[in-house]
Amino acid sequence: MSSINSTLQSLKLVSPEASCNTDLSKGPWLFDTGAPAYGPGSSQEDVAPVSTPRQGDIPAEYREASDAELTTRILAAKKTLGESLVVLGHHYQRDEVVAFADFVGDSFQLANAALTREKAKYIVFCGVHFMAETADVLSTPEQQVILPNLAAGCSMADMADESSVEECWEQLMDLYADESDADGKAAVIPVTYMNCSAALKAFVGKHGGIVCTSSNAATVLEWAFERGRRVLFFPDQHLGRNTAKAMGVPLEKMPMWNPRKALGGNDAATLLDSKVILWHGFCSVHKRFTVAQIEKARAEHPGVRILAHPECPMPVVDAADEAGSTDYIQKAVANAPAGSVFGIATEINMVNRLAAAHPEHTIFCLDPVICPCSTMYRIHPGYLAWVLEALVDGVVLNKITVADDVAADAKVALERMLAARP
Ligand code: SF4
Repeated sequence: MSSINSTLQSLKLVSPEASCNTDLSKGPWLFDTGAPAYGPGSSQEDVAPVSTPRQGDIPAEYREASDAELTTRILAAKKTLGESLVVLGHHYQRDEVVAFADFVGDSFQLANAALTREKAKYIVFCGVHFMAETADVLSTPEQQVILPNLAAGCSMADMADESSVEECWEQLMDLYADESDADGKAAVIPVTYMNCSAALKAFVGKHGGIVCTSSNAATVLEWAFERGRRVLFFPDQHLGRNTAKAMGVPLEKMPMWNPRKALGGNDAATLLDSKVILWHGFCSVHKRFTVAQIEKARAEHPGVRILAHPECPMPVVDAADEAGSTDYIQKAVANAPAGSVFGIATEINMVNRLAAAHPEHTIFCLDPVICPCSTMYRIHPGYLAWVLEALVDGVVLNKITVADDVAADAKVALERMLAARP
């Protein structure tokens, strides 16, 4: 099966409407030198904050090298760096980069995988910015984390910035100040999805809160409800809503917090009666999935199993047969009897690789339009070759560093997550 990148290269000539943006087939460096932006693709309509790190130009030799030359150079650099290097590749990364990864997984699996390589001084994280930050928080002081393209951010993570969350927290604390605490619980526990800045992980660490992944969100919410009367969940409204709904929290007790409005656009009574306050954030990739796509898949493939990632909107998760994290989806496919048919609602690079790894099944992405995560797509083998060859020369480029005080508080929130048990 051809990679998403090579499919995009051919589509631009024959069928541009089959991808969400034909510019995806160009080198990401074309978009890295201007104002902060998410680049072509699923996040293109989201506005990148001005604080988004800028990549800047990389030398022409990396932009102009052929795929074969980049492969040779990357493999040579990896060989020279040996055990001092570990390359991590997220599930949503393009095949041409995953090919060089020592570990492939979700953000938290990868940060932990890096810890198993004690001799690795350099952790090259082929993912997005918040993932590299998490790896830096969890890594040893001797390890340095490198993000090959600094412009590889995450539009969802950017939807909750530190000052908006601080402001929300102050308003909630004022609102709940007079509430009885006879039950011994806090008025509200902040819970953040892994997909956020280290500053927000530190925020929840400082305020008695916790981090969750899409694999353990229900366990984490239970942990939070044992300690608080309600939860402030950010940045992904869909993961929060889908998880809390499955736990029996009524939708009317899950108001949405819009950071641009007073009290998040809610009245005080609604917030006082709430169980989960959902931040107005979402993933541009998973927002593309619809119930109509599921209906079409069912009509065309009787017996199809629909698997949806919980970052998808609630109607999609409700219409799916199962919802779960990337890890869940992988295991569901691996454990299915041969000849199964899967329609999957998650990022297309991962779905494509699952289809290639499991020829015994029929596996397809529910979104008929090829639209990879545009920020993950900013990592191109040219950037990987650039940072690796610099390491060979003893130069660390694109180092991601989380300040010690932020890292300490973020680690508290991550450790609470690890200690939380169902
Ligand atoms: S798939 Fe969505 S949540 Fe994941 S990095 Fe891309 S934009 Fe962010």
